[in-house]
Amino acid sequence: MTTIENIEVTVESGNPLAQVFVTIRASDGTTGQGEAWWGIPDRDMPGRSALPIASTIENLITPRLLGKKSGEIERHWFDLWDFGYRYADQGIFLMGMSGVDIALWDLLAKQLGIPVVQILGGQVHESIQAYASLPPLRDTDTVVAETQRAMEHGITAVKLHEVEATYVHVLRDTFGDELEIMVDVNGHFNLQEATAFGLDIRTRGITWFEEPIRPMRDHATIKKVAVETGLPIAAGENEYTVSDFNKLLTSDAVTYLQPEITKIGGLTAAKRINPLVELYNVALSPHNFRIGPSLYASIHWAMSSPMTAWMEVPWIQGEFAGRMALPPLKDGRVYLPEGSGLGLDSAH
Ligand SMILES: [Mg+2]
Repeated sequence: MTTIENIEVTVESGNPLAQVFVTIRASDGTTGQGEAWWGIPDRDMPGRSALPIASTIENLITPRLLGKKSGEIERHWFDLWDFGYRYADQGIFLMGMSGVDIALWDLLAKQLGIPVVQILGGQVHESIQAYASLPPLRDTDTVVAETQRAMEHGITAVKLHEVEATYVHVLRDTFGDELEIMVDVNGHFNLQEATAFGLDIRTRGITWFEEPIRPMRDHATIKKVAVETGLPIAAGENEYTVSDFNKLLTSDAVTYLQPEITKIGGLTAAKRINPLVELYNVALSPHNFRIGPSLYASIHWAMSSPMTAWMEVPWIQGEFAGRMALPPLKDGRVYLPEGSGLGLDSAH
């Protein structure tokens, strides 16, 4: 078995978004690519908030992995988990672990000459329905134009990151019932505000209402929003451990579970979350908002789970979008990228 020879971390930024890329090289020269969480978008200092995550990989994680067998991914995951727990079992250390873990899976599958999904047990789905995830745009004309652009690509579902109900009404009135609409407010509201917002849009055929409450992990209050508005709730992108997901699911607040692969600990953690998704019988819709290894890894995961409902496709343009290509999209559905590993060769 090959050993881990080098781990390289690169932060790339396009104002205001950043990406944290991880490249692992094994002793046979094969490389694997991963991606850690990207920090918080900031126009005044693009990329700065990603630096602590990159530093965690370089200074805490890499020294524990160099020279170790590259294919013993579970062993490395547990060793890092056991070590990193002393910092915290949520947050920056686990974000760094995620990037490294994804790269190790890509590396192993490339050495085997098969797609990652095959190591996860194979494809349950040939394709998954996609929704275009619009960034916060704060302008109705732009929201309509970007929705139109998605529909021209065959995508008939969009997610808004807007905190005013007007946007939902405009989209429904403009595009009719052909369009599925998700609304994500990123924890913008308190209970009263979230309930008022939800009641305002409840008759407009909303697929889900995402992270309605501040703070985002206040499960009990999210449950109240679900009960008072009658809307399906989506959440989970700010949860980390299996225990966190268990608490969220036990609260019976969500219909759609959205783990973020760059926060939970990568594909190794995804394997641990799968049984919970089935046990609580909720729909899996991996969270993602970067075009890169994170999105590609999420697709392999989603393809391997019978519980998958939707795939989030970041609908971002220009310098926001980074340098990688979207995965194959046809008739509004995402297909597995071609090639071994995560299929990232087709993304460059
Ligand atoms: Mg969200």
